[in-house]
Amino acid sequence: MKNFKEFFSNIQEALVKILVVFDIDDTLVHTPTKINVLKNGRKIRELNSHEFTHYKLGAGEEFDFSNFRKAKDFFDNHKPIVPMIRQLKTDIKRGNKVVMVTARADFDDKETFLNTFRLYNIDMNKVHVYRAGNMKDGPKTTIEEKKKKIISELLQKDNYQKAIMYDDSKPNLQYFVSLKKDFPNTKFYGWHVNERGEASEHLREQFFDLVEKWSEKYKKSIDCNNPRGFSQRASCQSREKKKREKS
Ligand SMILES: [Mg+2]
Repeated sequence: MKNFKEFFSNIQEALVKILVVFDIDDTLVHTPTKINVLKNGRKIRELNSHEFTHYKLGAGEEFDFSNFRKAKDFFDNHKPIVPMIRQLKTDIKRGNKVVMVTARADFDDKETFLNTFRLYNIDMNKVHVYRAGNMKDGPKTTIEEKKKKIISELLQKDNYQKAIMYDDSKPNLQYFVSLKKDFPNTKFYGWHVNERGEASEHLREQFFDLVEKWSEKYKKSIDCNNPRGFSQRASCQSREKKKREKS
């Protein structure tokens, strides 16, 4: 400990509890596994996980995830999404509470499934995997509702100042940030993961939206012919720079 200030900031850091939620399919790994669509018990269609994200069930239809239970298939055919695997390992290292929340149900061989992530030196003793596919909430409950319920239960167990979710499904992120209503003291950040494994901050809770709108408005109100103080000057300089780059 060098001085009191450093000591205090270390304590503050340790006190900030952060929950980080990772989706699995198309967030941490790609797999060629297909989801069947059944109509009246008969298979009528196969969907990859990207198609599945956007598929709306028609009358009499249901999803069949039986292919997703095959752990060896997962282990053999997955492709890692490297930036997100890295992000997960960073979050473990920082001491954040890291969970995976997947639409899948249980695998037929848990160790083989976990070994897939151990290939990348992820300590799976520190990561619990919640399977929304195990929930018996009736066929009308959507994946995003199930995921929201799982995360809500996690948030009730501890006092998290921040909750972060990485997912390739925008509805999942929308439901996630809507938890703000139930947990007003937690800050919510929804990160959307694209096909290349790049995360962009897609959604923040509404409070932050308001702050952003306010700061946009404030920036526009600055008179650059007569800026006041350091921050206004900096703001005007970056505006100038943008103008120059455009022309
Ligand atoms: Mg996904």
